[in-house]
Amino acid sequence: MKIFKVGDSQKAICESCQSIENTTFQLRDVPFSDESGTVKNVLVGVCDKCDEVVIIPQQSAPMINKQLCALRKPIESKVPAHFIDMLNNACAELGAKPDFSNALIKYYVHMLSNEAMPADKLKTYLKSNLAAGKSDKRISLKSSILRDEITTLRSKAHIKSTSGVIKAVVLKIHDDIQVHPQPNLINQLKGVVAAVS
Ligand SMILES: [Zn+2]
Repeated sequence: MKIFKVGDSQKAICESCQSIENTTFQLRDVPFSDESGTVKNVLVGVCDKCDEVVIIPQQSAPMINKQLCALRKPIESKVPAHFIDMLNNACAELGAKPDFSNALIKYYVHMLSNEAMPADKLKTYLKSNLAAGKSDKRISLKSSILRDEITTLRSKAHIKSTSGVIKAVVLKIHDDIQVHPQPNLINQLKGVVAAVS
């Protein structure tokens, strides 16, 4: 990947001018194609003749994705109150604060959707005693890849709803960390805790 600097120039086809023009790289606010918002202060190639944005270089993609992600709505799931307690206790067991709960769920969804952990038994957790209870607490998760991973996991584990997937994942976390502790997994997770705390 070629990295451009502010002030670099390159020839490119400008759609407004309908010709090959010289472009200069500058920081600009660029509107999304569906006009739902603007990406602020991103390096783009601007036509010297008509001042339109002509090139969005590959190096700007992570910055654009970060701003797109911030605008996305979180994934909300309703769970019974004891699910939050199970998560908080799993975090304590790992030496983490309760606010590590969301990272823990995202780690599991990632591992399960990528087959780094088997997902076939996930559904059985939803038939356990602990799965029951009135869902009056909320888990709110934000991530750029989580939505796709949950969709993958729903089909792999044959669980219909997103809330069902989140509930099964929390029950698996409780099982792996507190009921039948998995030493290797717990050590890996302690490494993640150290990296984010
Ligand atoms: Zn132009």
